Amino acid sequence: MNNTCRPSFATSNTRDMGVYLHIPFCRKKCSYCDFASYEGLEAYYDDYVTALCTEIKLWAKKYPESTSIPVQTIYFGGGTPTQLSIPQIEHILNVLYKHYPCNDVIEVSMEANPGEIDKSYLQDLKSLGVTRLSYGVQTFDDSLLTLLRRGHTSSMAKQAITDALSVGFQSVSGDLIYALPGQHLKDIETNVKTLVDLGVSHISIYGLQLEEGTNLHKQVEQGQLLLPSDDENEAMYDCMLDQLASYGFERYEISNFTNNQAYSHHNLRYWQYKEYLAFGAGAYSFYTDVRRNNEPYVVPYITRLRQELLPVVFEETISETRSVEDFCFLALRTKWGLSKLNFEQRFNQSLLTIFGNELEHLNKQGLLQQVNDSWCLTRDGAKHGNYVFSQFIR
Ligand code: SF4
Repeated sequence: MNNTCRPSFATSNTRDMGVYLHIPFCRKKCSYCDFASYEGLEAYYDDYVTALCTEIKLWAKKYPESTSIPVQTIYFGGGTPTQLSIPQIEHILNVLYKHYPCNDVIEVSMEANPGEIDKSYLQDLKSLGVTRLSYGVQTFDDSLLTLLRRGHTSSMAKQAITDALSVGFQSVSGDLIYALPGQHLKDIETNVKTLVDLGVSHISIYGLQLEEGTNLHKQVEQGQLLLPSDDENEAMYDCMLDQLASYGFERYEISNFTNNQAYSHHNLRYWQYKEYLAFGAGAYSFYTDVRRNNEPYVVPYITRLRQELLPVVFEETISETRSVEDFCFLALRTKWGLSKLNFEQRFNQSLLTIFGNELEHLNKQGLLQQVNDSWCLTRDGAKHGNYVFSQFIR
């Protein structure tokens, strides 16, 4: 780990904004997914787009001061944003551009699923200014893809990435999930190697999270599927880290890797504790130290916006104590780590005064190391991230 290639905005005091746009539709609901995403709602796409655009306008009206902050990143997440047509995406962007200053945007990112869009759609996305694509690949094992109820095969995933690169997207990312039922070390190696060989510049890896209420959770609970043991999980995790490093992919966040500084600038905002607005059903925003989340279900979301009501169902002002905790553990997730200077600038207090004992203790345990002005996770620290982060809870 080092902090020599900090993005220019990482230490910037100027205020800028990220915008997250949630598109909660999927062609098929995956067996492990508990996100706000739904299949079979095609009939609502038009009404949803109208509602989302109304939400942007209402926000701009209710919080006029937010409309003077330059937007730096735009992220279409889901769900599967590419379920929408190009005119629908264009309409959303135009409404956003009309109400928020978007001249300084450095990244427009979009999540996509393999096998659902063709080259002509990709070309149109590029023409709309989308700069980055993030594909949910998950694995190149067809039987596991079927088990996860993914809507694509391994050959579709390869084709999708090849198409995106051939159309000229410079920044293409692939997500992988490890610790899947029946998965072995060899599968993991194949997955990473295949993604790298395809030419992606960014890879995200996530351990399977078994979420209650999902089909996969039921299957595991009923003993129909067996998950790898903790030791096997750890071996897979270590194997991926070594393999990615050997391919020249640096880890810049616990789950994210790039071989040419193709960072997800929007996601960096989350770890840098910066503000973002979020529109759409189930979306979470963070603005002026207030976290808000929206109505997660599509029909009530649309209904509220038809009545010109903001769809916020929960709102919480973050206390100073909680801000300090969040700031620390989010910063520690990244390779730039927890900077003493950034902390002091943000909170007008010395990091060492508040957390001196914890930092020293974690350092002695080999979980944190000091790099110039910052405290960073060691490789062991990243493996035991939850323990390290818990030390910053006051
Ligand atoms: S495509 Fe993504 S959001 Fe949609 S169901 Fe699958 S995991 Fe969930």
